[in-house]
This record gives sequence, C-alpha cells and structure tokens, in this order.
Amino acid sequence: MNNSYVNLIENKNNFFFVTAHPDDVIVFFAGLIYKLRQDNKNVAVVTVTNGARGSRENKITEEELAKTRKAEEINALKVLGVKEENIHCLEHNDGEFESNYELIGEILKYIRKYKADLVGTHEPSVNYTMTYDKSGYFVQHRGHRKVGEAVMDSVYPFSRDTSFFP
Ligand SMILES: [Zn+2]
Repeated sequence: MNNSYVNLIENKNNFFFVTAHPDDVIVFFAGLIYKLRQDNKNVAVVTVTNGARGSRENKITEEELAKTRKAEEINALKVLGVKEENIHCLEHNDGEFESNYELIGEILKYIRKYKADLVGTHEPSVNYTMTYDKSGYFVQHRGHRKVGEAVMDSVYPFSRDTSFFP
C-alpha cells in the first residue's frame, strides 16, 4: 500500500480531525493541516474536551484555563488557514468522558455534516509512546485512547449505516 501524500490525499477534498484536548490537533496534525489548506482542501476540527484540566499550574481556574486553551487552538488553526466556523468543541469535561454511544453520535454528526473523506484522530491501541528525545516513554493519555476509539467507531460502521442516529 502506497501511503504517500499524493496517494492518500490528492483525490479527496474533505478532511476532518477529532482530538481530545485543545492543543492536540496542533501537536499531531499542524504540518498536514497547513499542507491541506495550501492545497485548497476543506478542513474541519472537533475537540472533545474544553481542556480545563491540562495544567500543573494551580493558580488558574478551570474556566480560565479552558478559555485560554480554546482561544490558542482557534488562533493556531486560523494561522494554518482553517476557517473559524469549521472549528468546534464538544465541551466535555476533561477526564470525565467515555467512548460510548453518546460520544460516537456527537462525533458522527460532524463526519456526516462535513462529508469527511479522511478522518484524523488519536491511535487508540497505543498505550505508550516514546518521548521526543527517545529516552523513555509516555503513557498515552486516557482521553486520547477514548477519543481515538470513539472516532474509529463513528467512522465505521456508525456514520455509514444510517440506521444509527438517523
Ligand atoms: Zn491531549
């Protein structure tokens, strides 16, 4: 299988990214999203949580942190060329959501809305990822695993089979 950009991307128009936290889509997909927008492809983004708990700083409230992180995500995506109306947050509380029928339905709504040809998300089966300096491993964030699983289920079979969430 040829996984080159040309082979995977060229004949598709609508790209959809779903990640757990407001910084994830930039950390994992910024380069690809920039290239897609340069090539005039449509890009939409959904973030599952508001990111209210992703800090070790205890002087900031959850509301302030969520507001800051969401604003940073929107500003970064706009720099890459993503239209603000195509950036959404499902507003789940950080760490309190599950990969379940409800979340599958919330994600699936956007897959159908944007007629996604290709969906990018977290790899749900990865429990450990190597650190950037290759000196050890991170535990894959629980939120990433849960979102990745729900997105995979949303893509197939739930978004295809219209008897689910008609
Ligand atoms: Zn994350």
